[in-house]
Amino acid sequence: MSTTAETLRPAPGLPQVTLRIGAESRATGTATHEHVNPATGRVDALVPLGGPAEIDEAVRAAHAAFAVWRAAPAGTRAKALLKLAQLVEDNTAGFAALATADNGIAQTTAHATVAAAVEWIRYYGGWADKLPLGRITSAVGAGGSFGHTLRQPYGVIGAIITWNAPLMSLAMKVPAALAAGNTVVVKPSELTPFTAMLFADLVREAGIPDGVFNVVTGGAAAGAALVEHPLVKKVSFTGGPDTARKITAACAQSFKPVLLELGGKSANLVFADADLEAAAMHSTFMAFGIMSGQACALPTRLLVQDSVYDEFVAKVGAIAASFKTGNPLEADTICGPVINQGAIDRIEAMVARAQEQGARLVTGGARLDGDLADGFYYPPTVLADVDPASELAQKEVFGPVLAVTRFSDEDEALALANGTEYGLSGYIWTSDSRRSIRLVEALETGEVVVNGAPNAVAERPFGGIGHSGNGNEGGLEGLEEFFWIKSVAYGNG
Ligand code: NAD
Repeated sequence: MSTTAETLRPAPGLPQVTLRIGAESRATGTATHEHVNPATGRVDALVPLGGPAEIDEAVRAAHAAFAVWRAAPAGTRAKALLKLAQLVEDNTAGFAALATADNGIAQTTAHATVAAAVEWIRYYGGWADKLPLGRITSAVGAGGSFGHTLRQPYGVIGAIITWNAPLMSLAMKVPAALAAGNTVVVKPSELTPFTAMLFADLVREAGIPDGVFNVVTGGAAAGAALVEHPLVKKVSFTGGPDTARKITAACAQSFKPVLLELGGKSANLVFADADLEAAAMHSTFMAFGIMSGQACALPTRLLVQDSVYDEFVAKVGAIAASFKTGNPLEADTICGPVINQGAIDRIEAMVARAQEQGARLVTGGARLDGDLADGFYYPPTVLADVDPASELAQKEVFGPVLAVTRFSDEDEALALANGTEYGLSGYIWTSDSRRSIRLVEALETGEVVVNGAPNAVAERPFGGIGHSGNGNEGGLEGLEEFFWIKSVAYGNG
């Protein structure tokens, strides 16, 4: 389909989506995508999609800008990133509105997500002029040589993000990459094109030179072209395992390093000695109130000790049923729609199969109709007595569905928790500190949070093992992902 700026005009309130390549903001691409508002089921914008040609231009712009950005004084990079953090914070309402427009996320969550993103940008802005650039590895001695390491930026980073939290994904990848002196080409999901537009505007307003940050919205072809481009020196990917396999295979051709942030089926272990009120509220909100269950690190497998199992399941079911699912713009909505019809189909099929395999429906379990029939609304759904070997316990739903299974003791809880291919997050509820220390060590996950601590915070690394990926975002570890290490030695000759 050929496109013109006129045919691409979006609905009122939505930004014109363009490809941000170097200094250029281009309203046409090689194809278009009809953006469907998940809340209404209606097309509200035609989005230009970049393909391999636009990716090539963007990578070349980023490559040219690398020399400038890398040579900029560290203080200049720090100042620009801290200004970006402030600009994003100043535009909280705008980003929250775009988040809802992008993927239907409820306004309450949308605001919290902007605040979290600001923290990430500010955190890496703070590192930019305090970079741990190396360490002395050997001092001059008798017959010895002076040696040190030198952390070097890669050059162009190819960042591929998914649709569930565009601003958080940008904040988790871009500031760390830029703080380390790299330049970036981002490929947002075609499903959520709006947030990156405001972000790119603010990157420019923050004084970051043209070409340092580029946006080419597109689909799989654009993503593949970015991964394969020889001037892209590292790939940072957030998405699903099937795509991750293709990306890893493509990177293997040139031994290109790749950071993978993938899915999860994170276990939430509730012991009888826990604060059950706090555990029930937190577990239920985390399962449903964060992006309607469409986030990677959520506690989607609830494992409950049998002496409190019935009581706890009843509590969680009641709290879940009290969460309003509906128009994401209404102040009392906790769960907005899921992303699209495909998500509804997947969720319905998984819930049906779980029941065929013996799971008991506690609440939810059917798409909402009436006034909500045109949007993609699926209510918080709790399934109890889920067989740990069944699909629902083993595979990510990426929707508002919680699988509950009982356990009798700590050993069984641990075996169940570690009994999937994923390894992203682990949640523990207990008042026994010795137990929590044992479990922290034994859980095979990239992160463990105990008794309701927040996760995905800027100062702590976040990343998975197994089918949940490799590498980290967040913390000093997240910064180190964007350097390669040179080992240097000076002889006496
Ligand atoms: P996906 O893998 O289908 O798509 C992710 C991105 O990859 C999109 O931008 C897509 O256009 C692009 N892509 C598709 N094919 C490609 C290819 N061949 N080469 C390069 N890029 C390609 O994932 P999704 O279904 O959109 O996202 C949901 C998944 O993301 C879930 O598994 C979820 O758990 C995961 N996720 C992980 C994190 C994390 O930080 N660990 C965060 C959010 C979501």
